[in-house]
Amino acid sequence: MNSRPRILTGDTPTGSLHLGHWVGSLENRVRLQDEYECYFLLANMHAFTTRAEKPDEIRRDTIEIVKDWLAAGIDPARSCVLLQTEVPAIAELTWFFAMLLPFNRVMRNPTLKTEIDSKGLGDKYSFGFPMYAVGQCADILVFRPELVPVGEDQVAHIEMCREVARRFNQVFCGVDPKTEDDDYVKAGGLFPIPMALVGRVARLAGIDGVQKMSKSLGNAIFLNDDPATVKKKVGKIFTGRQSPTEPGDTSNALFQFVEAFITDAARVAELKDRYSRGDNIGDGHIKAEVTEAINAMLAPMRERRAQFDGPAGEKMIIEIIRDGTSRANRLAEETLWLAKQAMGLDLFPRTIDLGKAR
Ligand code: ATP
Ligand code: MG
Repeated sequence: MNSRPRILTGDTPTGSLHLGHWVGSLENRVRLQDEYECYFLLANMHAFTTRAEKPDEIRRDTIEIVKDWLAAGIDPARSCVLLQTEVPAIAELTWFFAMLLPFNRVMRNPTLKTEIDSKGLGDKYSFGFPMYAVGQCADILVFRPELVPVGEDQVAHIEMCREVARRFNQVFCGVDPKTEDDDYVKAGGLFPIPMALVGRVARLAGIDGVQKMSKSLGNAIFLNDDPATVKKKVGKIFTGRQSPTEPGDTSNALFQFVEAFITDAARVAELKDRYSRGDNIGDGHIKAEVTEAINAMLAPMRERRAQFDGPAGEKMIIEIIRDGTSRANRLAEETLWLAKQAMGLDLFPRTIDLGKAR
């Protein structure tokens, strides 16, 4: 098991998973489970950076996301499903990495800036909010992965993570700064310089047709939506087109959905051709085909998800998280100890003795 290269990625429990997750990252995770040793992280600590006053929702969404993962085809026997707050090495590495990144570098991170705007955080966001970007470097590097499957919005974060990895290796492992990214471990570095793997649709638009589909923006089609809800939401995809004979723009949001979910390439080409010529084809017709394609894709997921309904299902999910977290901690603790050795913090190995219960 340990000879395979590793993957780390995850989702924040700020809501259920949607079609953007599927095309941006989840689909790749499901596909790569045999080739890679996979770690899938529930970023519940990061959910608190924008929702600290809603712990019940974070708990609920943590469970729901795992149901979404399993429904989508993540196999807990092959892959580790882990809870961020129960992997203490992540929190410790976050501190060390915070010292390797200039403050202004973090605040200039374009993904953070976009999120502050799109989530309407204004200047009221918590101190912890920008810290999540540093924390994410630790989420990733604690598992020393080669690959991080993410959507396009996360690429700036992965770039920061790569910078931290290079810097740690240079400062504490004596790696020459001129070393090629692929050679850092060979040159004595602790951390590989991980690569982002962006999915087949880098940034799926939401049904508003403007922003990226996002669980916190109210513009998402969820993997657990029922067929009627999918139909209703697809019906809302905004195009601005007035009639079936108006030449349409095939780079609009609706056609993103056509290309992402209609699997018959010849049919996609035909729809594009007729739409762009305004050949008597209405948005309503195209939306019906998109709805059918999405529902066909989601049907087996709905079926797999149903086995986790109710309290018994929740118990099974918690066991899966517990088991995955325990396996993840073995690797995470090893990385932390290696990092401490590199940093001269290995005066003695840690044993925490809680004494006898009183
Ligand atoms: P939030 O609104 O809370 O930020 P989100 O919908 O953006 O939630 P995240 O948990 O932040 O979801 O992202 C999880 C993963 O899914 C990341 O790799 C992200 O890049 C990817 N992803 C999210 N939305 C999309 C999208 N619309 N298109 C492609 N990939 C996406
Ligand atoms: Mg996001």
